[in-house]
Amino acid sequence: MAEIGNMSDIAGLVAGPKANNATTANAISPLDEDDSSLSSAASDIFDRLPSNKRASSGSWEVDANGNWHRYGSLESATSTGISSICSSTAADDVLKDRSSGPSSSKKRMSDGTIKVALPSSSISSGSAGTPRSIEQRGISTEQRGISTEQNGKLKPQQKRRGRPPKDKTTVQPLKPRHRTASLISTMQGDVKPRSAIPYTLPISTFASQCIEAAHASRLDPYVLHAGEHALLADRITSAEVTVYLNVRNAILRLWIQNPRCCVTVEEAAGCAKEGRFYGLAEVAYKWLTRNGYINFGCVEVPQNPTTSAKPKRALKQKTVVVIGAGVAGLTTARQLEGLFAQHSDHWLERDEKPPKVVILEGRKRIGGRVYSKPLRTQKPHDLTGDLRNTAEMGAMIVTGFEHGNPLDPVIRGQLGLQYHLMTDALTIYDTNGKPVKEKRDMLNTELYTDITDRTGDFRAMAQPRNMLKGDEDLIKRSRDPMPGGYNSFKLEPLPEPLGGKPKTVMKRGRRLNAPPVTEKLTGRAQVVEASTDTVKAAQAATEMGWKVKEGVSKHDTVSLKPIAEATLYPTLGAVMDNAITQYQSLLEMTSQDMRLLNWHHANLEYANAAPVSWLSLSGHDQDTGNEFEGAHSEIIGGYTQLPRGLMNLPTKLDVKFQSIVDSIHYDDHLEDDSLRTRIVCTDGQVVDADEIVVTAPLGVLKSEAIDFDPPLPHWKMGAIDRMGFGLLNKVVLVYNQPFWDETRDMFGLLNEAEHADSLNPSHYERRRGRFYLIWNASKTSGRPVLIALMAGHAAHQAEVTDTSTLVNEVTDRLRRVFSPSVPLPQEVIVTRWKQDPFTRGTYSFVAPRTQPQDYDLMAKSVGNLHFAGEATCGTHPATVHGAFLSGLRAAADVMESMIGPIKLPSPLVGPPTVKQETSTGFFARAAPTPTPVSRPQALPATYSSATATLASAEPQIKQEPSSMPLHSIPAAALPTVPRKSVCAADPSFWIPDTFDSHLTYETCILSLISSKIGDRALKPLRPGVNPFLLFTKAHWDECREFCNEDPKLRDVRNIIRTTLGIRWKALSEAEKVPWVEQSVAAQGEADRARKEWEAGVQRWDEEAKRIREEFMKERPPPEGFSGELGGDGGKRKTNVSACVGLGM
Ligand SMILES: Cc1cc2nc3c(=O)[nH]c(=O)nc-3n(C[C@H](O)[C@H](O)[C@H](O)COP(=O)(O)OP(=O)(O)OC[C@H]3O[C@@H](n4cnc5c(N)ncnc54)[C@H](O)[C@@H]3O)c2cc1C
Repeated sequence: MAEIGNMSDIAGLVAGPKANNATTANAISPLDEDDSSLSSAASDIFDRLPSNKRASSGSWEVDANGNWHRYGSLESATSTGISSICSSTAADDVLKDRSSGPSSSKKRMSDGTIKVALPSSSISSGSAGTPRSIEQRGISTEQRGISTEQNGKLKPQQKRRGRPPKDKTTVQPLKPRHRTASLISTMQGDVKPRSAIPYTLPISTFASQCIEAAHASRLDPYVLHAGEHALLADRITSAEVTVYLNVRNAILRLWIQNPRCCVTVEEAAGCAKEGRFYGLAEVAYKWLTRNGYINFGCVEVPQNPTTSAKPKRALKQKTVVVIGAGVAGLTTARQLEGLFAQHSDHWLERDEKPPKVVILEGRKRIGGRVYSKPLRTQKPHDLTGDLRNTAEMGAMIVTGFEHGNPLDPVIRGQLGLQYHLMTDALTIYDTNGKPVKEKRDMLNTELYTDITDRTGDFRAMAQPRNMLKGDEDLIKRSRDPMPGGYNSFKLEPLPEPLGGKPKTVMKRGRRLNAPPVTEKLTGRAQVVEASTDTVKAAQAATEMGWKVKEGVSKHDTVSLKPIAEATLYPTLGAVMDNAITQYQSLLEMTSQDMRLLNWHHANLEYANAAPVSWLSLSGHDQDTGNEFEGAHSEIIGGYTQLPRGLMNLPTKLDVKFQSIVDSIHYDDHLEDDSLRTRIVCTDGQVVDADEIVVTAPLGVLKSEAIDFDPPLPHWKMGAIDRMGFGLLNKVVLVYNQPFWDETRDMFGLLNEAEHADSLNPSHYERRRGRFYLIWNASKTSGRPVLIALMAGHAAHQAEVTDTSTLVNEVTDRLRRVFSPSVPLPQEVIVTRWKQDPFTRGTYSFVAPRTQPQDYDLMAKSVGNLHFAGEATCGTHPATVHGAFLSGLRAAADVMESMIGPIKLPSPLVGPPTVKQETSTGFFARAAPTPTPVSRPQALPATYSSATATLASAEPQIKQEPSSMPLHSIPAAALPTVPRKSVCAADPSFWIPDTFDSHLTYETCILSLISSKIGDRALKPLRPGVNPFLLFTKAHWDECREFCNEDPKLRDVRNIIRTTLGIRWKALSEAEKVPWVEQSVAAQGEADRARKEWEAGVQRWDEEAKRIREEFMKERPPPEGFSGELGGDGGKRKTNVSACVGLGM
């Protein structure tokens, strides 16, 4: 047992009666708790061997092998290699892998193009320097805070603030763009509309990038989010909703294109097409920032400029305590640090320092259920970058990076972690060790899918919520409505794919031809597109290829209603097993079919961490439809690198380890008691707090290991009770040599029923989850590692079965599949998550009594007590990204509690202004007197001129007058009279002596061009006026007045349109003639304007080219400059578009 015991010493998961509550957990010895986050340098993100081990891996191996020999001496057989005969249920996908050295990875950009990037390993290994994708976006290595030495090792950059890095290999984050870029920092608050919209980019491409960015942020590009709706619904017209959405999507575009660099408020303002929409830009920026849609993760946020003044005396400071350093806790803390920095003025104005954030973590390590345990046998050179050999005890799979995974910007964009893309190929082996025939496998897969779909008829439907919607057609063209509320000009048809049906955010179908296991990699249930109830079961089965029994007609079917309605709380398992039994009466089914169907049950039990008979029939898949896209992947070297990144970048979070929270005394805002808000730990430590965020898992809350004072309200306790917290366990097997097909990521094992060859579904329940799926984790561990899953009832059995019994059983199964000479593993780790006092299970599931709103209740704050964690994220529960999203949400809750809701600027939108093409004013913007009236119509017509003062004495630059101030820019930073010449002819003003980056060089060229020949003209809008529209326009006001007389007419615009339509139809042909003539004339005018524009831009392009070439001749570019920056405005090179050239 000494050897086996050592091998199963996973932190807090050790079998046995110890550590049944948080207090006893305190007694876990350091040996029990192997700490992957602290045993290498704490500031490391990448899980490398400690540096002394790195240099002499030989001695490390000897150590490990010393222990090992004793275990190895038990082995009787040597490895004989592989004997794998496979019948794949899916096409043999080509293995895509980022682990191999020089191979490149692909990242889909928001325009749908694929961007090739060097393996992010280059960050961790330092071998190849900078990921190309980042370089391509115009970010220099220096900007990212990374520098490379010639030998490829990373050289630390000097940090500006925060603690100095402890380890030389620490990756520094990118500084916010506006703090490093000279052009922006000299802007002095002057913002130009459209400056964040690249003029070199076709507007259609820009529009599609914006739409894609909204999708990638889990937002509907055409509809306000509930939070935006709540904020704006009473303050905004329907036309302004479109403008808002255009600006909001454009801000998201900036972020998605480069999440290593914060979007600044100036850039957000530059997404507005007119200055009068700065108010909307400000709201969008604040809402996106506050709610973690932009500027989140491991990125340094822009400090509020007013905070630079040093406090004169010791200031008070509030404290936010976050309980738990899992992904939810670290994300909450990280996000709060960023938000506090950005809102520091709120506290400084009150003579307070911005609040501090403290994390209390019971364990000795971070990560919680993300735990990559280092193996005893280390051969780190097998992984690039000397990453340690680890195995995942908890979360392992990133369920697709595309279409909204918030971890994408962090894992790939900011941390540059290596990952292995998994393939769908799966072979299932029967109990005799033979692979199941592909046809049989497919038949059962389809039958199982059919049964699942039939149970979908009993699903509780989410209530649709009506939010304000923008004009989809205009948003697809990135156009704002015409002023005056009239925008019904007919627009030319949209090109594909923009014109096609938009991909909705919340509903996507099953991946074509993907075997069910792949869907289950998402950890959630399948998407049901339509009810199968109308298709009779016998007919459906025949179409699948099943042979129906003699005498069965194609009209025979299965009926699940009686069983579904038999009890108040029906379970998925009961209904599905009933369906299987009914199908048995229609089809020729064998015991192998039963084993296969039960394999799928086991897979569902893995996804939900609970036997199917414990799952709610109506709600088990309540998160369906929120799945991400793209291949699933695993993090090479360990998923723990994600929580490490969150903890260390951009500055280290304050985590107090081994602080086991015993009780929480909070303010529920109900009673005015004198109790302080504080947290008491089991070791007697008392921590005062102003706000508390609890991220302890649902299992811990259920166990009542933490006392709440006052007790949690009934509604919260009710949700905690009703929700399920499940179990999944893993048996990790480490070998010397692989004996399986290394190109595969997984294989499946069927299990026998309790009574051999039984056709009774209940006889399979207890055994079906035993080692039913085995992952090949070698690619990510760097050692030959298999991870066998124990799901459903088997997960609970693993808690009470000793390790050697489990090892013998799985070895026996492997010998049957591969070869009798399969050796015993060198190292074994068995997880027993139920016994872990800091988790008490694995993840949440929807139990029969769970109510649809329970996840929301779990998330709801009680006074100054807030909640985060996977079980508080109803849209993505039981996942790492769900925990991450919950952390972002909880941070917003804390902010709301501390500084209140987002304040809207007033007025929100300025009146329409006429573009003053000829004006050359540099407008010193005096802040307008706030007016309580929010509707733009109520503003004085002279608003623009009244608030803009022309500094006529100074040299002037042609610029669109901005009638609205950007409220977020502090008054001090607003431009008054320029202090020095801004004469465009004086290049010394904006051309530096040296160019520190390609970006600076390119921006100078663009500035030069812009100063000499002005901006490239915008394409004239095509009026597309048809006679009816002209008629409508002419009679609009008259008709509106008429309609307004009736107060019951709610949607006036539509009624006006309809009325005018009827009137138009009633006109005779002769009466229509004047409108037809006007239309023809307008079209002619439009054609002329377009031709003029085409000729103009051609001249402009030629001239710009000439200026560029001359400049490059005079001022040779920095090394490696390809001139591509200017040519391709499609990608975000920086947060500043090329248009910022004139920014002073
Ligand atoms: C076996 C397994 C496999 C999984 N597979 C996947 C997968 O493939 N993909 C995926 O996306 N997700 C997976 N998950 C789910 C994922 O790991 C979790 O949803 C996510 O990590 C939860 O994060 P969290 O921050 O909410 O909770 P946790 O990570 O559990 O963090 C809570 C923290 O609170 C601390 N804590 C608890 N009690 C106290 C106390 N009294 N005092 C102080 N601190 C305390 C804990 O130590 C812990 O650090 C898996 C989980 C498990 C267990």
